[in-house]
Amino acid sequence: MNLSIITIFPDLLGKFLSTGNLGRSLERGDIRADVINFRDFGTGNYKQLDDYAFGSGGMLFAAPQLKQALDFAKKGFENNFVLYPSPQGQLLSQELIESLYNQEHLIIICGHYEGIDERFVERYVDLEFSVGDCVLTGGEIPAMALIDSLSRLVPGVVGKSRAVVEDSFYRGMLDNPHYTRPAVWENLEVPEILLNGNEHEIRKWRRSLAVSRTLTRRPDLIARADIRDYISGEIYLALIANENSLETQVFADIERLRVIYGLERPFVISGNRDLRERFKNSGFRILGKFSRILESVKAPEKLLVVKVCDSPEKNSFHYVEVKRKILEHDGAVLFVLSNEKFALDFSCETFGVYLQEDFADLSLSFKAAILFDRILGKR
Ligand code: SAM
Repeated sequence: MNLSIITIFPDLLGKFLSTGNLGRSLERGDIRADVINFRDFGTGNYKQLDDYAFGSGGMLFAAPQLKQALDFAKKGFENNFVLYPSPQGQLLSQELIESLYNQEHLIIICGHYEGIDERFVERYVDLEFSVGDCVLTGGEIPAMALIDSLSRLVPGVVGKSRAVVEDSFYRGMLDNPHYTRPAVWENLEVPEILLNGNEHEIRKWRRSLAVSRTLTRRPDLIARADIRDYISGEIYLALIANENSLETQVFADIERLRVIYGLERPFVISGNRDLRERFKNSGFRILGKFSRILESVKAPEKLLVVKVCDSPEKNSFHYVEVKRKILEHDGAVLFVLSNEKFALDFSCETFGVYLQEDFADLSLSFKAAILFDRILGKR
């Protein structure tokens, strides 16, 4: 990862870049950072960098000096991505950090006073980013926040890379709470489950706490969260099939989706004996009656059924609501896809999900791909 930071406070950035894990990864050469002293590009006897803003009278960094510093920063790189920290920019998010991580060379220009000349922003800045809806005096702290977060993605910067994945936002979910010794402090006890050493139980506890925290504190995150690892039971898929909706290709496509999303072996339900015979060696579980699914799923009394609807129906929900309901559910989920109307022949908690218009005419494998991308995909 290559970084250049244009700042009037190079010592501040220098200290930051030489401290802790970040400092060590710079020493190792995992990250290369160049702090450019903007004062070196001042003009005239006073090494002037700023000037009065037309109309408002505040001070601004001037475009010609910024351009000179930028040209200097670009030397030796073919692909540069120029960032300007600004309260008017796009809010920093994990998705943004991950996208920036893939750039060859990031150049960050730290503003001060009223900011920088807008013509320079228009012509040379690729992205303005903000650290929140508040105003700071300069761009150095936002630059450090960005660099710190980027550095966590560099292999070796954070001790356990698993820890990065489980941190808040990486999968769009918040992290679970953490505790350390002493086990009792000011009469407050660490949750018993963390002390009993049962890995499986601890993992379950951590996930359920991450889910409840996200749902209560940041429900807005659910739409883009990668919830696959937070679902508490198995994920099943049933296809209601007729001769027109089932072909060998459908099986092949759905098998790929099964592997990508970690689903259980899918069910195919058909009243047609010939069709059941034709696909009996497909690797899918071919059943004549819906209710026979209950014989194959773990804890059928806790099964949640989500029917994929071709149009909005009574008791059908937006997919974000469905993600929330799946996260709240303690047990397995069965998605049901069909190209025709059908009714369940057993009773259990059931609701619909309506994904989009013109859904009815799609093949079952297209429907499955859209469904799993929306509900289980990384956004
Ligand atoms: N006049 C600007 C405005 O209202 O949009 C604010 C300028 S601010 C006082 C000075 C510099 O601090 C900005 O040029 C920017 O680099 C940085 N800055 C301030 N708040 C920021 C924020 N929330 N996110 C990112 N950078 C910020």
